[in-house]
Amino acid sequence: MKFNRVVIKVGSALVAPDTKGCSGKYLLAIARFITQCQQAGKEIILVSSGSVAAGRGLIAHGSPNPSIPTKQAMAAVGQMKMMANWQRFFDVPCSQLLITHGDLKDRQRYINIKNTLRILLENGVIPIVNENDTVATDELKVGDNDNLAALVALVSEADSLFILSDVDGVFEQDPRINPQAKLITEIAKIDDSIYAMAGATNNHIATGGMKTKIQAAEKAVENGIETYILNGSRSEVFEKLVHGENPGTHFVAQEGAKRARKHWLKHTLKSNGKVTLDHGAVNALTKKGASLLPSGVIDVTGEFKVGDCIDIIDGQSNRHIAKGICQYNYRDLKRIQGKKSDEISILLGCCPSKVVIHRDDMVMLSNI
Ligand code: GLU
Repeated sequence: MKFNRVVIKVGSALVAPDTKGCSGKYLLAIARFITQCQQAGKEIILVSSGSVAAGRGLIAHGSPNPSIPTKQAMAAVGQMKMMANWQRFFDVPCSQLLITHGDLKDRQRYINIKNTLRILLENGVIPIVNENDTVATDELKVGDNDNLAALVALVSEADSLFILSDVDGVFEQDPRINPQAKLITEIAKIDDSIYAMAGATNNHIATGGMKTKIQAAEKAVENGIETYILNGSRSEVFEKLVHGENPGTHFVAQEGAKRARKHWLKHTLKSNGKVTLDHGAVNALTKKGASLLPSGVIDVTGEFKVGDCIDIIDGQSNRHIAKGICQYNYRDLKRIQGKKSDEISILLGCCPSKVVIHRDDMVMLSNI
């Protein structure tokens, strides 16, 4: 197995085990693995549960199933504890991203999240994502961090997703009933029979169970992301990962899903405008695989918004050479065209992105 940019989801059972609030019991081995990955040049994004579990002992409740506002208050106080607990295991800085499904559905906010993650990773900071439990109402909620992690893997364009909990993976039968049950090491296709193997959650601190993990895997593999369910309570699991071995259940990414995104960008997504480039920028895009910077833009046409797809035109030949998702609306882009990225904040009062179109969001057309 190979991974370069990976989203690691850590469940409440690992962050706050034994119903005693946050603990380092399992995080030490996980943090050591993350540090090893970073030192090997890999990029890691954490999705951590545990805020409600960590805050449970700090908010009076008196019921095994507290009300939603009570849980939201637990999340608010527990989130601080959970973040502090992670930071103590790292020398590099950790950062907190609290997001809801509503944020991921909104195009502008989606781009903001994507850009923030990109910059954090470029700076060697560990992004730690959780659902913004205090503000999320049911309609705006992802609801569980397994599915949230899959969405984060999509936004961040990760190649892999590791879902860590206290189970070894997916078994052919319930191992609590049949201790001889076999672990399934590879799942090439997720269908009803796979869901049938996933019983209901049996852990009262965790929101999801095996079902939400399989849902998350389904979302991820459809988008070309290799997904693994792993037992994060066993340190030998991390040793195996470091040696490129699969220690749990691997859901195989669908072939061609990455290509499908480029296909969608190229053939399905309608352009709402265009930018014309000077020779230097055309060269950088076509020969060096670079992102598009404002300095190379010589003309802007159309009334496009942030996150719209636009056509990229070679100013010399007038040929349509590429398409991509634009980080600026047409008004702002007109103001920064031809300028250096360092001048963006002087001209606009802020610099949401140094690039106009990031390479990951661009597709070159084959006629060049
Ligand atoms: N956001 C919840 C928390 O931090 C966890 C949700 C989940 O475990 O799926 O407690």
